[in-house]
Amino acid sequence: MVQGVVVENGVIQNINPATGQLIEPAVNVTSPEELENIISAANASQPSWSDKTLSERIEAIRQGLIAVEPIGDELASVITEEMGKVSAEAKLEVSNAIGLKDGWLDMVKEANEDVHLGGGEEGKAESIVVRDPLGVVVVISPWNFPAGEIPFLAIPALVAGNTVIVKPSEVTPRSGELFCRALASSLPEGVLQVVQGDGKTGEQLISSDDIHMVAMTGSTATGKKIMNVCSKKLKRLVLELGGKDPMVVFKDADLDKAANDAVAFSLFNCGQVCCAVERVYVDESIQNEFEQKVLDVAKKYKVGNPTDADTTIGPLASQVQRENVSKQVEAAVKEGAKVLYQSDCPDDRHANFYPVTVLSSLKQVMPIQNLETFGPVVAMSTFDGTEEAAIEMANSSEFGLASYVYTTDLTKGSRVARKIRSGQVGINCYSILEAQPACPWIGHKQSGFGSHSGMDGFRSFSVPKSIVFTT
Ligand code: NAD
Repeated sequence: MVQGVVVENGVIQNINPATGQLIEPAVNVTSPEELENIISAANASQPSWSDKTLSERIEAIRQGLIAVEPIGDELASVITEEMGKVSAEAKLEVSNAIGLKDGWLDMVKEANEDVHLGGGEEGKAESIVVRDPLGVVVVISPWNFPAGEIPFLAIPALVAGNTVIVKPSEVTPRSGELFCRALASSLPEGVLQVVQGDGKTGEQLISSDDIHMVAMTGSTATGKKIMNVCSKKLKRLVLELGGKDPMVVFKDADLDKAANDAVAFSLFNCGQVCCAVERVYVDESIQNEFEQKVLDVAKKYKVGNPTDADTTIGPLASQVQRENVSKQVEAAVKEGAKVLYQSDCPDDRHANFYPVTVLSSLKQVMPIQNLETFGPVVAMSTFDGTEEAAIEMANSSEFGLASYVYTTDLTKGSRVARKIRSGQVGINCYSILEAQPACPWIGHKQSGFGSHSGMDGFRSFSVPKSIVFTT
């Protein structure tokens, strides 16, 4: 999704989006020779890693997450420097990643345990299902949660007995490397390694015959390219891709909460979240009242330097990202959308700030209602208040990652949720924050392929094998 980040002469031009300055020291792209050595080391260390007991692997990984704690502040400030996330949100990203060491890691363990299916009595065969690792798993990550996304894929892969090679996004190379280095500090040599570079390096890596699975988080366009490469050897895949997530507000909703959440979930991380609210559909009979409430909330946000304590929205991660948001908003306005509000924002042509923008009267045919916006925009339109129209609007997208339904009638909310085609539906909440850790994370339609959380996701990185005993 982010182009315009240049890899030149084997070096990543890593730019601070709040200043336009090049970040030093430069990060070198992994050369093809280095890549080969890294792949060999991952294959060489895999058998002894998978020979360890499940408990031994879990404890080593837990120690790795504990090793992130002392570098937590440094990691958060590198995230802010590389992609412009405000400091408080960067700290939250890091502490959430470290927090996986507790109950979440125990659940990953449980998902990978042998399952005894019984039998063995009265001459009946006894069956056990065990899980075989795949070998070497490549984890490719995006820039929007440059540390936080990595463990959701890398840790279940490691727990299952695979070795892992992580390729951080070229937009946030240092954040990904810093996190992985701490995590790898408690693991044997070669079990968790990092390569650096853009899509070209990613493609070289996943094309190797000595790579056995690819787990990627990123845009749908890149996911399709990866799927194409992996199809040649039928490599297993987990793809966590883009979204265009709807929020439906019925007239019986708690409108203060709905307005607050519509703004918060549209603007978190400057709108650069796969499960951000990108389309708000409000019952037409409460349009004016709801829009006023949204405006009251949106006006409290402040765009500015991401390290300032009173800033709530930093810059977009790159210039291309800013141009993309700006083009979508301009096209919508040309086609009749109303701009209800645009905030102040620093006027610095070297940086990538974009104002908080509240739009209404959007039409479904507009690009802004169909393409991922990934910016600080609250995009509102109306529906006739019926459940059928709400479901139709929510489903009118090629994406299906997350959706949100606001109503005080939970029976109606559940009815609507069951008919929306997306991996999660939050009724009166931001499901990703409120869901039990055992909930799977998966995209329907073009939002993904396979899952990375919950029992389904934790088991994505191994193949079940049935062992059947008779005496
Ligand atoms: P991107 O697709 O541009 O890049 C993602 C990663 O893929 C990067 O590391 C990139 O270098 C690599 N890559 C690019 N081309 C490749 C190729 N041909 N072969 C191998 N690797 C290649 O995505 P992005 O702009 O970094 O991230 C934003 C996107 O990620 C958004 O679409 C967002 O919705 C999505 N995302 C999804 C989830 C989810 O859980 N579904 C979570 C976070 C972000």
